Amino acid sequence: MAQKKYVYFYGVSKELTEGDSSMKAILGGKGANLAEMANANLPVPPGITISTEACAYYSKTGGKYAPEMEKQLKVQLKKLEVNMGKKLGDPKNPLLVSVRSGAAVSMPGMMDTVLNLGLTDKSVLGFVEQCGNERTGWDCYRRFIDMFGDVVMGPYTGLTHHDFEVELEAIKKKYRAKEDTDLTAEQLKELVGIYKKVYQNKVKKPFPQDPIEQLDLSIRAVFGSWGSERAEKYRQINKINGLLGTAVNICTMVFGNMGAKSGTGVAFTRDGGTGHSKPMGEYLIDAQGEDVVAGIRTPRHLDDMPDEESKVWKKVHTDLLKIMARLEKHYKYPQDVEFTVQEGKLFMLQTRNAKRTGLAGVRWAVEMATGKDFYTGESQPKILTQKEALMSLSGEDLEQLLFPIFDIIAEKKGKVITAGLPAGPGAAVGKIVFEAADAEAAVAKNADEKVVLVRHETSPEDVGGMWAAQGVLTSTGGMTSHAAVVARGWGKCCICGAGSLKIDYKEKTVTIAGKVYKQGDWISLNGSTGNVYAGQIPTQVSPVVSAVVDGKASAKKDPIYKMYEQVSKWSDANRTINVRTNADTPKDSKAARSFGAEGIGLCRTEHMFFEGDRIWAIREFILAEDQKARKAALAKLLKHQQKDFEGIFKAMDGLPVTVRLLDPPLHEFVPNSKKDQQEMAKRLGVPLKKVTERVQELHEFNPMLGHRGCRLSITFPELCVMQTQAIIGAACKVAKAKKPVKVLPEIMIPLIGTKAELDFLEKIVRTQAEAVIAKTGVKVNYLVGTMIEIPRAALTADEIAETAEFFSFGTNDLTQMTFGYSRDDIGTFLPDYLNEKILPSDPFQHLDQTGVGQLVKMGVKLGRETRPDLKCGICGEHGGDPESVKFCVKAGLNYVSCSPYRVPIARLAAAQAAIKG
Ligand code: PEP
Ligand code: MG
Repeated sequence: MAQKKYVYFYGVSKELTEGDSSMKAILGGKGANLAEMANANLPVPPGITISTEACAYYSKTGGKYAPEMEKQLKVQLKKLEVNMGKKLGDPKNPLLVSVRSGAAVSMPGMMDTVLNLGLTDKSVLGFVEQCGNERTGWDCYRRFIDMFGDVVMGPYTGLTHHDFEVELEAIKKKYRAKEDTDLTAEQLKELVGIYKKVYQNKVKKPFPQDPIEQLDLSIRAVFGSWGSERAEKYRQINKINGLLGTAVNICTMVFGNMGAKSGTGVAFTRDGGTGHSKPMGEYLIDAQGEDVVAGIRTPRHLDDMPDEESKVWKKVHTDLLKIMARLEKHYKYPQDVEFTVQEGKLFMLQTRNAKRTGLAGVRWAVEMATGKDFYTGESQPKILTQKEALMSLSGEDLEQLLFPIFDIIAEKKGKVITAGLPAGPGAAVGKIVFEAADAEAAVAKNADEKVVLVRHETSPEDVGGMWAAQGVLTSTGGMTSHAAVVARGWGKCCICGAGSLKIDYKEKTVTIAGKVYKQGDWISLNGSTGNVYAGQIPTQVSPVVSAVVDGKASAKKDPIYKMYEQVSKWSDANRTINVRTNADTPKDSKAARSFGAEGIGLCRTEHMFFEGDRIWAIREFILAEDQKARKAALAKLLKHQQKDFEGIFKAMDGLPVTVRLLDPPLHEFVPNSKKDQQEMAKRLGVPLKKVTERVQELHEFNPMLGHRGCRLSITFPELCVMQTQAIIGAACKVAKAKKPVKVLPEIMIPLIGTKAELDFLEKIVRTQAEAVIAKTGVKVNYLVGTMIEIPRAALTADEIAETAEFFSFGTNDLTQMTFGYSRDDIGTFLPDYLNEKILPSDPFQHLDQTGVGQLVKMGVKLGRETRPDLKCGICGEHGGDPESVKFCVKAGLNYVSCSPYRVPIARLAAAQAAIKG
């Protein structure tokens, strides 16, 4: 049997490179992209990737290497040594490597990089010889002990970077060195001795002098970090499922800390916050990788590179920009690259799709496909097709364009107390907290609580708190710091590097310009400008909402609106199904239509029963002793309902409107408290006892499975009569108005389980509708259909379609009844189910395609066997969930229906499903 391949080689030449960017699942994102860059002959330091499958094996077996892995690693290591002409741990000519984690999806929760692996007391001397720079040699060794101690041994021993940092500060003080770079080789050598002691104190073993042991421990640390709490949390928040594990990248070291012609940096081909197409980045001269992200020295901006003292930087800058443009074109996605310059020679250490906000995502997509800057009109290379642009977006990206921003006037009046880097756009208003755990706890206690997390800097352990907070404010770190990158990925408001913050974690205070702010004080962040304000600045709707919903002419000129419009147009040109909305009022109907809704898929009539005095009419109906009294009560509702329908038909002129007959159990309309019951008795002129008795009668053990839906109208046909009169009455009235409205009413009967239920009510509906039409003399075409929301209805859809002219899948109830999970009580056990991975996600948010989806498919198939032109749609909450929408396209539905603000998202998802085919 052929043995499984666990260890891959990349670099040196295309021929020697194994793998490419299509192998992310096995090589991880980093490994796959390094191979891809090597294939494209880009300057990549050669290396080895251990596959994610090896990690999966390690996790499954509680820490065993996969058979053959070590042997394969040995072979590949040899290949690397031969090609580099160096040997790991060699006292004369040592090979140094970095060890890095890299899953298929980039995950800040996992192990950080270890650099300079292979250095020992002996090999450091050879390395000094090799690079001809004693200072560089000892600097690399002390960094290695620090990183190895913190990253590899830290999780088991409590050793941290801080333990080493204290010693670094002490030696700097001792020798009056201002910067790390001021320390001499001798002083760094002394520091190495101190670091080794720090290591031994905590780890209780000397610092390992065998490079193979160093490598082995590092590989185990990378594999182990996959299952760490913070990595698990990150995956949970970001809904990352189904990955095997992380790969391990063992890369030949190149050195950015070799003096003025060396350096290291990170760069983005476009701005991940605003989406601006200008490359941006940061670098440090005479430094190694971690210095840039750690915020120890303030990095320099990419634009400054050509003006550096040493001439080499001008060419490096040109080369880097060329490579970045090439990578962006190649990957058809803006890239986030890491690079190192060793004595004037540029090396690419990593490339990956850049993290971005929703705004940046939309801007990238439209600009890369139109070849035009939406803000300045300047042209730029066309990199994507219209379809590729749509596929690069997610529903959340579009959703972010609808997020609030600060009210402009209020912000002008606000007092800027400090400013930092605009790392994640949008507006955030909340109470100050200093610990991620406090942010999480506050929101867990009260979901409406708004907090802003204020810290020196964030680390992967803070992701839970960052997620819970409205925004994040840090005093150190640049645009590529942890806080910035994570927040941007989520589209969360974030300001970094606000240097004037003086945070006292113990006292839980932050001092800004002499003023002390305590935990719990309000603060407002503008993540698009970097400005920080004291107090609460009111927010205002996004330009898209202002242009679309309010029709504001000025907002229509806003580039953000124009980009939204472009994406929407492309979505409509590509999608194959309709998008309707769930709306119950003329106002919501109008808003939904301006977001592109092509009709109403669900008008829940019961929502109209609560407004104003109407609740008293329905309560009168509930208390009525006989049909006559019930009819009298309903007559009061009729005129209100008819008026509402008139407004809705007008808003949806020319488009179909599906109105559902009353659905919820009647107990939802009566009060529970004694006080309210007394008021009800008084208002309706009946004794209190009558009210309390009726309320008791309406009590059900399982109201969701009780007297609701079509069952109500079967018991009280006068309900169905009144509602049909209101719907068709309204339709006839607006259809014959001076300015006639084109009406397409669809009357929908809820919660059908048998054909007989539908037949019973269909007859009443048709009789009443025909009577109204005859009386008004207006020819209105209408349909009578049903919801498919009980499994039995899906199973007998062929019979039901004999009567029903359309089906609308009510996947809220269908999910409830298929799983047997109460939709109102799932919160009590869902967290456990998600934690234990018993459910992949909340089935009320994301359609369970295997189970509930099966019933949808069956319903469509059986229904159309009876009635080939049967119109089928979905009106459960899933109608606005992108993945569920894609399923609906595949299942052959004619439309999805969702809440007004989700309409743009559903349009995009429908287009993506059609493009994917
Ligand atoms: C459904 O059950 O999916 C539905 C749309 O109806 P409701 O949520 O009103 O029960
Ligand atoms: Mg329902």
